[in-house]
Amino acid sequence: MKPMSDDGLPSRLADGIGRAGFRKWYERELLSCHAYMLLCFLSVIGLLSSIEAFRGASTEDQLTNVLFVVVCATIGLWALRRYLYLLMRAEGIANQANCPDCGTYGRFSVVATNHGGAETQVCCRKCTRKWVITDTE
Ligand SMILES: [Zn+2]
Repeated sequence: MKPMSDDGLPSRLADGIGRAGFRKWYERELLSCHAYMLLCFLSVIGLLSSIEAFRGASTEDQLTNVLFVVVCATIGLWALRRYLYLLMRAEGIANQANCPDCGTYGRFSVVATNHGGAETQVCCRKCTRKWVITDTE
């Protein structure tokens, strides 16, 4: 059964957790946010290389380097922002993944979502206690 939000649209958090379980969802979120960190790192290398190549180059090459610096800086800042956002979101949700009664971590199923997917009601698989996980997205 696919959980639906109160506006009839399936939410991404409930979808992601419902499909593969919380632990798989969390693992996937961490992998994707660290891919953005890698992209940010590569942009910094590209940025430093362009600055290094700037010295002693012809005017035309220097203009190309300035363009490359701007492109690398833009991609790097975007990737850093995306990395921090996805990491904070995953950590915020993981901090709410403990069952309030039995303390079991990450073993729950999605019951319902509301407020457009901002809140996901989940049920502990061990003791069937229900609680709400708030998504910062
Ligand atoms: Zn429990």
